[in-house]
Amino acid sequence: HRPLGVNAIIEDVSERRRLEEIRRDFVANVSHELKTPMGALGLLAETLTMEPNPTVAQRLASRIHTEAFRVSRIIDDLLDLSRIESEEAPPREPIYVNLVMAEAVERVRSAAEQRRITIELDEPDPPVHVLGDRRQLVSAIHSLLENAVTFSYEGSVVRVAGSQSDGKIQLAVTDTGVGIPARDLERIFERFYRVDHGRSRDSGGTGLGLSIVRHVASNHQGHVEVDSREGEGSTFTLVLPRPPEYSA
Ligand code: ADP
Repeated sequence: HRPLGVNAIIEDVSERRRLEEIRRDFVANVSHELKTPMGALGLLAETLTMEPNPTVAQRLASRIHTEAFRVSRIIDDLLDLSRIESEEAPPREPIYVNLVMAEAVERVRSAAEQRRITIELDEPDPPVHVLGDRRQLVSAIHSLLENAVTFSYEGSVVRVAGSQSDGKIQLAVTDTGVGIPARDLERIFERFYRVDHGRSRDSGGTGLGLSIVRHVASNHQGHVEVDSREGEGSTFTLVLPRPPEYSA
């Protein structure tokens, strides 16, 4: 009897099968996500070619623009996700958290201004650094900020704060927006998962942002925490290990 050997083979096959299944699901999901806006694009363009009224034509063209933008966002996010997934061990350079926060805020500023949302930046003082990949970290904080802005009410405040405690560095993004129902909390990190916040609040998002955030966290030996209450708001915290050779 060599039960260990037998065990190992079974494990191997089921793991491979599981990965194949994930890949198949993923391809199916991607196809589905692209099919909807592509279908809309086709219909809109067809209608446009036959539309004599310039006002209506203008409106159709603008919807084509919106749908095309959506397709390109999905593709951008997929490319980001695949890059981040393939860089399992990203470059580990000392990166100042303050710079990551500032860069991510800069990228979301115009979207925030459009909705009259103020972004409060609470930088760790003295500055702290983590070991990792700057592009990935900015990408993660940017995704969290983008969500915070999207799911907040006009005129509200979004706060991004960096701090350190217990050998960890925390980067927290807080909003006072719609919040997330408890039953959805476990699933929001899945690819393409979106909470149904009601028709009034179609974010135009891809459902990939938080998968990217979670991947960036795990690439940096960290994790993401979420604290959210429906109707009150959310805090997402990226928790990263503090570099051992720390000296600020
Ligand atoms: P999306 O591109 O749709 O924002 P994400 O993966 O970033 O994709 O988020 C998944 C879903 O989680 C969102 O569609 C939204 O329903 C919910 N969500 C994420 N962040 C927030 C937030 N700050 N407030 C409320 N809901 C959120």
